[in-house]
Amino acid sequence: MAQDLEQLLERRAKLQEQIDEVETKILEQKKSRRDELLAELKELGFDGPAPRRTPASGVRQRDPNRPCPICQIAGHDKRAHRSHPKAFTPAELKERNLPSS
Ligand SMILES: [Zn+2]
Repeated sequence: MAQDLEQLLERRAKLQEQIDEVETKILEQKKSRRDELLAELKELGFDGPAPRRTPASGVRQRDPNRPCPICQIAGHDKRAHRSHPKAFTPAELKERNLPSS
């Protein structure tokens, strides 16, 4: 019984050795295949895996509390001045339904 177990363990050790050997060969094959592919890609003009571009913090958000640079009042921005380059008077703000502060 003890003899059998010893033999089995020995057999397993040998098989494990073979498995390790085969796995090493597989890894070598994979690596050389990968190197081949990378070399091929480089020839084609690809320089390795493309770096992931992170979008520049999404769509630029306008700060609604940012005051208009012309009137120094929040509630609208300088786009509101396309037809009115001067600062709005309180009456003009009211006329345009724009908040006056
Ligand atoms: Zn303004």
